[in-house]
Amino acid sequence: MDFYTSLGVTKRINAAAYYTAIGGSIMAPQVLEAMIDASKSFISIHELQLKAGNKIAKLTKNEAAFITTGAAAAIVLSILAFRTKGDVKEIQRIIDGTAAPSEIIVQTGHRIPYDSAIRLAGSKIVTVGNAIQTFEYELESAINSSTTAIFYVAGAHLASPVLSLNTVVKIAQKYKVPVFVDAAAQLPPLSNLWHFTKECGADLVIFSGGKALKGPQSTGIILGKAIWIEAIRENASPFQRFARAFKVGKEEIAGITTAVERYINNDHVSEFKNWERIIDGWVAELSVISGIRVDREELNEAGQPIPRVRIQFSQEIVPKVIAELQSLDPIIEVVHNSKDIIWLSADGLQENEKDIVSTQIRKALSNFKF
Ligand SMILES: *Cc1c(COP(=O)(O)O)cnc(C)c1O
Repeated sequence: MDFYTSLGVTKRINAAAYYTAIGGSIMAPQVLEAMIDASKSFISIHELQLKAGNKIAKLTKNEAAFITTGAAAAIVLSILAFRTKGDVKEIQRIIDGTAAPSEIIVQTGHRIPYDSAIRLAGSKIVTVGNAIQTFEYELESAINSSTTAIFYVAGAHLASPVLSLNTVVKIAQKYKVPVFVDAAAQLPPLSNLWHFTKECGADLVIFSGGKALKGPQSTGIILGKAIWIEAIRENASPFQRFARAFKVGKEEIAGITTAVERYINNDHVSEFKNWERIIDGWVAELSVISGIRVDREELNEAGQPIPRVRIQFSQEIVPKVIAELQSLDPIIEVVHNSKDIIWLSADGLQENEKDIVSTQIRKALSNFKF
């Protein structure tokens, strides 16, 4: 009996997205092998972080890199680096609660559920602009002597128009304020690994390890300027300092390093073609059902160029359809943040799951009269 079955935990087929709540992504065999390998010896965590970071930096065309326990932890670590510049006296002042006030500027259109990590780093969130737009003068007027950095969230799914990263970087450089980018779910395209830093000039960029990179769920990476990565190092585990709570283990370091290498060498063209085949197959199969409208969309829920299926119902029955899918074994996970639409994605599927998804969706829908 496998582990989940022995605990009575129901397995799920992921036709939704790389959500943390359902286990992130599934690690590739070579990632697991690297983790098992790494588990067998003692090493210096400092040396391992440094050398794995150097390897990831080289692979991603960045100056430097650091491995964290996820993108949210990476937000905290980036801010601690900006606040302290790696000076242990400043790190101590944050621990003691005597550090200077710190503000992080965020455009209204970039307020996301994960920005509580900014508060966790001891900083205040200063929101600029409104739900419709942000003007350059609004950003400039918010910068003052307490400003630590500007937080920028990447992704085509953020509906409200905000200042572009290039504009934000231009203003930030004028006032000598660092910019860091949350690109946790912004892979593919592969080029995003260097786009925000090398091409747009951001100081640091953050990616989740447990999403498209298919590394350990509890990892993330920070890429960018070496001075900031060195400052992150001073705050982080294994030091018994403020960010010791975000301890990354040797196995996770091995896993994410291998996952980044796998991702870079992956055949992205044939992977995309495979997703397309599944999506187009689902569209053909499900569009024959009356009372629903089935379309292919080109962007996924995080605004990435990954096709998905959009199923719109003539009635607001999504909660009932979801209840059906959640009663199955395995459960079928779909994106359902609307009352009359669900979305299906192919990138989280494993072998032989695509037909189970369409069969179960058809079955669930056969219970409803449209
Ligand atoms: C997923 C996500 C995070 C959190 O990532 P973890 O690696 O789970 O900590 C942060 N920001 C954005 C935009 C995300 O999509």
